[in-house]
Amino acid sequence: MAGVKYTNCCFCNIQIKDIDSNNAQPLADDRCCGDCNASRVIPARIRASYMLEQMYKHKKNIKEVLK
Ligand SMILES: [Zn+2]
Repeated sequence: MAGVKYTNCCFCNIQIKDIDSNNAQPLADDRCCGDCNASRVIPARIRASYMLEQMYKHKKNIKEVLK
């Protein structure tokens, strides 16, 4: 297919189709492959949402949550 754009995973550097790439936020302002998304980005998002929950629920600031 013409017009398919490729990009490189920002973690493992393999080439992937742009439409198959994933947003690497909050780890990087870049694109990553499905494997790195599952092994790195999703766990980081889970940790981030857990930290936010701790901050809101227990009125802790970010320094207390990161201890
Ligand atoms: Zn990757």
